[in-house]
Amino acid sequence: MGRSLVLNATYEPLGVVSARRAVVLVLSDKAEIIHHNGEEFRSERLHLPVPSVIRLRYFVRVPYQRRAPLSRRAVFLRDGGRCQYCGKRAESIDHVVPRSRGGEHVWENVVAACSRCNSTKRDHMLDETRLRLRRLPEAPRHLNWVVVAVGQVPEHWEPYLVGPAA
Ligand SMILES: [Zn+2]
Repeated sequence: MGRSLVLNATYEPLGVVSARRAVVLVLSDKAEIIHHNGEEFRSERLHLPVPSVIRLRYFVRVPYQRRAPLSRRAVFLRDGGRCQYCGKRAESIDHVVPRSRGGEHVWENVVAACSRCNSTKRDHMLDETRLRLRRLPEAPRHLNWVVVAVGQVPEHWEPYLVGPAA
């Protein structure tokens, strides 16, 4: 059934849930449908448009700036699948400061890399090699975690994802 974008009562995007979960939230009156994708959820007693965007009827306090979970897939998405040293197609993940030299496994220290640059770099610090980063790695900001979560954002989600945040 696909996925649904969940908005806070304030229309701030909160996360992504399965469309089935979104249906449950709507049926239990915890959320309203803001946008549906034209398909229908059918059961014996019920026809409901499949929600693509829902808004909670109550306000959820977001206790911290949400940080996208770090994964290989997420790093590849952030870096456009390109080696951050040479721009070729990335095949692996490189720790800028090697783990053996105390580098952490965090967004700011992990980049997508091709196997050639990765084997050049190995356990070296950057300035011990000829490699240079094309840009500094950062954690995906606020809204990009949605992109990271789903891989690709449906077009009609976009109006809800731009705004004051970031
Ligand atoms: Zn490379």
